[in-house]
Amino acid sequence: MVSAYSDSPALVLNADFRPLSYFPLSLWSWQDAVKAVFLDRVNIVSEYEREIHSPSFTMRLPSVIALKTYIPLTRRPAFTRFNVFLRDRFACQYCGTAQPTSELTFDHVIPRSRGGRTTWENVVAACTDCNLRKGSQLPKDAGMHPRRAANEPSNHQLQQNGRAFPPNFLHDSWRDYLYWDSELDPV
Ligand SMILES: [Zn+2]
Repeated sequence: MVSAYSDSPALVLNADFRPLSYFPLSLWSWQDAVKAVFLDRVNIVSEYEREIHSPSFTMRLPSVIALKTYIPLTRRPAFTRFNVFLRDRFACQYCGTAQPTSELTFDHVIPRSRGGRTTWENVVAACTDCNLRKGSQLPKDAGMHPRRAANEPSNHQLQQNGRAFPPNFLHDSWRDYLYWDSELDPV
C-alpha cells in the first residue's frame, strides 16, 4: 500500500476543493493525473518537486488536483465492513478497546439465530474475545450492550471519524485539504 502511495499519486479534490473521500482517500496515479490535466478536466492545486520530461515540455507532477466539474457525493454511505469499523472508530463496542482492523470482527447485536439482521442498526465492531463471550446471546442475557446504539451514519460522521485516523502516507501538500475545513464546518 505504501509503495503505491509513495509513487507520487495526486490527491483528488472535488470542484469545491474538498476531498472526494477520506476513506479510502481519492488518489490517482501520476499518469492518470497528468492525463486529466491535458484533457482539461482538472486544475492543478499543488505540485511535487518531481518533474517529467518529454521532447516538447517539462512539468512538475501534480500532488493535488481539483475536478473542474462538481461531483455530488452520494447521500448515504455504503454499508461495508470498513464503514462499520469507521463508524465505530475501530473500537470494540463492548469493551471499548481500539483494535487493528485485522483483529476486529462483526457482532450481530441481536444474534442472527434470534432473527437479528445484517444492518447498520444491528451490526457493531467487536473484538474477538467479546464476540466469543457474547456468542449467540441477547445483549440483556449476556449483560453486554454496545457503548453506542448502532445506527446508519451520515457521510459527515464518517468523514469526521476518518480525520481521526489518517492513512499511513500523507504528502505535506495534502494536509491542508484533508484538515482545513474541520473547524469551519458548521455542525
Ligand atoms: Zn471487546
